[in-house]
Amino acid sequence: MANIPFDERDGFIWLDGKLVPWREATLHVLTHALHYGSAVFEGERAYNGKVFKMREHTERLRRSAELLDYKIPYAADEIDAVIMATLKANNLKDAYVRPIAWRGTETLGVSALQCKIHLAIACWEWPSYFSPEARAKGIKLMMSPWARPAPTTAPTAAKAAGLYMICTISKNKAEQQGYSDALMLDWRGYVAEATGANFFMVKNGALHTPPIDCILNGITRLTVMDLARQRGIEVIERLFKPEEIENADEIFLTGSAAEVTAVGQIGDWRFTPGPVTAQLAEAYEKLTRE
Ligand code: PMP
Repeated sequence: MANIPFDERDGFIWLDGKLVPWREATLHVLTHALHYGSAVFEGERAYNGKVFKMREHTERLRRSAELLDYKIPYAADEIDAVIMATLKANNLKDAYVRPIAWRGTETLGVSALQCKIHLAIACWEWPSYFSPEARAKGIKLMMSPWARPAPTTAPTAAKAAGLYMICTISKNKAEQQGYSDALMLDWRGYVAEATGANFFMVKNGALHTPPIDCILNGITRLTVMDLARQRGIEVIERLFKPEEIENADEIFLTGSAAEVTAVGQIGDWRFTPGPVTAQLAEAYEKLTRE
């Protein structure tokens, strides 16, 4: 599947109220979202037929739209039911789920008050975000030259397509230089997050992770923080500069796609995947597959 373009696959995608054959889930080139970045989306995983934290993802999707000043015309219950129906139509039990909402074609200008709101749900098999070899050693991160914007510059709490422009530039550059991903600082120079995952460092047995003022408040992040607390591991949300990372005991990333992934290198700094990461990765794996 990995090399088949996304528009040349088979199956069904739910689009604006009905399941349509995969290749027919198309839009017009003069769609507002394509020109002005007005889409919001989610990334979730189904494990053995059950979507982990589906309602939290659905609620974040609806909230993301509200942060971009529109309302998704489906209730949370309806969206959840559609996700399950799409998995079933594609005969998938272990899958990645991608809901996306966007402004349509009624006007094409910055103003979008007349644009209809659309919603689509797609799902497909997607085993691991990072390669198994990279995960075993800990992935390599490059420092991104791009900073996460201030919450007064962009709707940073939304999982909005437009915010991924700098993530794509950063991740492409990282991959071109032999890294798996890029670590972004925020507009003040504090450690923020990777291009599609949250950042944790372990120091003297405690977890340190940035607060949510200009990063995505990951659902995996919240889950892993809970798992840590349940195991007596202290969780500290605070701002820290990259210099503090150098003497961390362990580093890992969290995300629905990335799950819990150990980091082995950031720029020239090296880290060894350690027991806290292993414990939390195992706990997360168990919880998602319950
Ligand atoms: N930060 C960014 C920028 C992301 O794209 C993601 C993936 N959605 C995350 C963090 C992790 O969020 P979650 O745990 O909800 O998947």
